[in-house]
Amino acid sequence: MIVGKLSILSTMTGRNAKAAINLTTSVSKYSTAASMANPRLAGKVAIVTASTDGIGFGIARRLLREGASVVVSSRKQKNVDEAVKALQTEGLKSVTGIVCHVGKKDDRSKLFEEAKKKFGGLDILISNAAANPTVGPVLDCEEDAWDKIFDINVKSAYLLSQEALPLLRKRGGGSIVYVASIAGLQPFPLLGAYSVSKTALLGLTKAAAQTLASENIRVNCLAPGVIKTKFAQAITEPETSRDVALQSIPMQRFGTPDEMGGVVAFLCSDDAAYITGETIVASGGMQSRL
Ligand code: NAP
Repeated sequence: MIVGKLSILSTMTGRNAKAAINLTTSVSKYSTAASMANPRLAGKVAIVTASTDGIGFGIARRLLREGASVVVSSRKQKNVDEAVKALQTEGLKSVTGIVCHVGKKDDRSKLFEEAKKKFGGLDILISNAAANPTVGPVLDCEEDAWDKIFDINVKSAYLLSQEALPLLRKRGGGSIVYVASIAGLQPFPLLGAYSVSKTALLGLTKAAAQTLASENIRVNCLAPGVIKTKFAQAITEPETSRDVALQSIPMQRFGTPDEMGGVVAFLCSDDAAYITGETIVASGGMQSRL
């Protein structure tokens, strides 16, 4: 609509153009005000794992901005306290935080208890934590490293979903989003086992979505490309690896945690009400599939 207005504007002069500019400005002001008055996730309660930094923090912030109440979590109390404070300082008050190492059953129980205690239930689960203790081709991975990768990246995502279900069912529906990776679609040669664990999440997305669709619980997945976080520092910071990585990204830049938050907020909102079992690749055009 605004594009249409701009092309009309280019053929206008004088007072007509001024009036049209005023109209365009007021339309866009109105749209912003309207979307703030009706935030897409108002009244929803969300848990985001591994959300004191990086992509998880970007997702938590965006869900808060869209009106949700959010429980942030990670392994270290200090990080949890700092993340909650940072969000509250931005005026995002409906946030609480708790320690949760996703591989620990007790921590996961406390996470769900926190959502119930502070916000009265749960509508949205974002499973974002991952580990990558080793670098190398898939068949060179030591058994211990393989177990850790699959425990954190896949088994914890599965268990969190299973444990979230009673709360989601109580609300009559909800949304689960797994954070996988573009490496799950096109394995990174030096992140062999990690890539396979992310492929497993794409399968979990499909299987869980089919099982839960009739209960109004949607299950989707985000597959980020290379995003500027601590996790990806080895790729994004040294000049040589950065330049090599950028050659495979048509948009010629790395993604940001805020951009990942936007995709997840969409998937959890009613704008995605008819989408389940899908993986959205957000990679600046990096090749992933046809
Ligand atoms: P990051 O910047 O390194 O952030 C890691 C966060 O996870 C921190 O808050 C950390 O806090 C927490 N954490 C680590 N291990 C945890 C565990 N076992 N249980 C709970 N919290 C844990 O990582 P990121 O880049 O945002 O990655 C987030 C997700 O995106 C991962 O699933 C990753 O595989 C995926 N991904 C990332 C990229 C990328 O380029 N960055 C690309 C594709 C996919 P504590 O230290 O306090 O636990």
